Amino acid sequence: MENFNAIITSQNRLFETGKTKEINFRKMQLKKLLTVLQNNEKLLCDALWKDLHKPEFEAYATELGIVYSEIREAISKLKSWSRPKKVATNLPNLPGTSFIMPEPFGTALIIGAWNYPYYLTLGPLVGAMAAGNTIILKPSELTPSCSAALAKIINENFDPAYLMVAEGGIPETTELLKQKFDYIFYTGSTRVGKIIYKAAAENLTPVTLELGGKSPCIVDNDAALKVAAKRIAWGKFINAGQTCIAPDYLLVHESVKDELLGYISQNIFEFYGANPQESPDFLRIVNHANFNRLAGLIEKDKIYFGGTTDAADLFISPTILDKISWDDKVMGDEIFGPILPVLTFSRLEEAIKDVIKRPKPLALYYFSKDKKKQKQVLNQISFGGGTINDTILHISNSNLPFGGVGNSGIGNYHGKAGFDTFSHHKSIMKRATWIDLPLKYPPYNTTKLNLVKKVL
Ligand code: NAD
Repeated sequence: MENFNAIITSQNRLFETGKTKEINFRKMQLKKLLTVLQNNEKLLCDALWKDLHKPEFEAYATELGIVYSEIREAISKLKSWSRPKKVATNLPNLPGTSFIMPEPFGTALIIGAWNYPYYLTLGPLVGAMAAGNTIILKPSELTPSCSAALAKIINENFDPAYLMVAEGGIPETTELLKQKFDYIFYTGSTRVGKIIYKAAAENLTPVTLELGGKSPCIVDNDAALKVAAKRIAWGKFINAGQTCIAPDYLLVHESVKDELLGYISQNIFEFYGANPQESPDFLRIVNHANFNRLAGLIEKDKIYFGGTTDAADLFISPTILDKISWDDKVMGDEIFGPILPVLTFSRLEEAIKDVIKRPKPLALYYFSKDKKKQKQVLNQISFGGGTINDTILHISNSNLPFGGVGNSGIGNYHGKAGFDTFSHHKSIMKRATWIDLPLKYPPYNTTKLNLVKKVL
């Protein structure tokens, strides 16, 4: 195991020199990151194929391409993001000026999940670099080729006193968590999120926790069913359902269920063919533990579509389970795989009630043309973020801060939100010295009290 203490000490030292706070330094490092990634695209894509059978299109569209555009946005906007922002000064403090000055926290630890091995590590990294921190990046050990590829290209090109990739699993992460960081950004399960939060509390280290949960997909009776079906099939089965914001389950109005399921099945067929195992576009389950967990959720008598498994190939076909109730095993924990359970409702209020009884989800999707009902869903259900009349896409707009709420996470990132997450926002008031009203100083008297009552 690496000597993390020595690495962190060297990162602290570099940070203390003030070098990483320089706008030019940050820009140059971000540009270098972009070049290094682009020069090694093949290595990175091959590793994704090896670990997850991820097609090149998705490697680009859902990982590298988005990271590139996040880097470009940070390079072009970081000067304005870093500028102190003037705010109004309240009456009792006049004459004076007030401003908020973003500053980097110091040394940050980023721990990633395996399902989007680059997006979930490099995405937060962009915010951390733009803000001027030094960083240790810990990719997931469950996608070892991707973790090795990241370690190779970053550790060969960056000074470890500024940025380094630390590979490893639970022992290495546990060791890292014993160190004192100035910020910890974690993506992964709610269970491990609690371990991270506890460890961070030891040093009062601020955290972002990007966690998971069961994200509902509600389809109402007035939805544009054909397009809804296509968008649901895409959002659910992309990455073989191993997406933190994949629609976890379908809650569909009983009057349109049959038609919707017919269309979803048809779309699965069109996307992945009669035998999805032969499709170059359909991913595999990450490992045997997850395969066994998922296979155990498929109740044979509930299969509406799919249900084929092949342990040797870690393959589970896109599967729809019908006539599911809230008590079924598949409705226990987040599925995180290509299985779509279907529940029905007859009144929207009923569906909303069922959702809000459960932990706050990371995402929610609602399909309906009715603006009033859309508003009702948005007002009554708390969730991290979501898309109306589509799935997943809210994650792809960097103007929308991405994160969970309650059990699905703490904090957010993407675009400026990523920069803000990795910055402390220092509030400063500058006071004029040419006047110094005696009001606030003792000895106090009734005149002063009456005056203060008026002013405040
Ligand atoms: P995980 O929590 O098992 O692992 C994530 C990271 O934590 C890995 O780097 C791993 O090495 C580390 N880790 C695991 N066990 C640990 C322990 N006991 N102590 C210290 N570190 C430990 O999560 P996962 O299986 O990689 O990811 C699946 C979960 O992540 C799902 O719930 C999914 O919804 C969630 N997720 C959330 C987001 C998001 O952006 N909110 C994105 C992807 C995944």
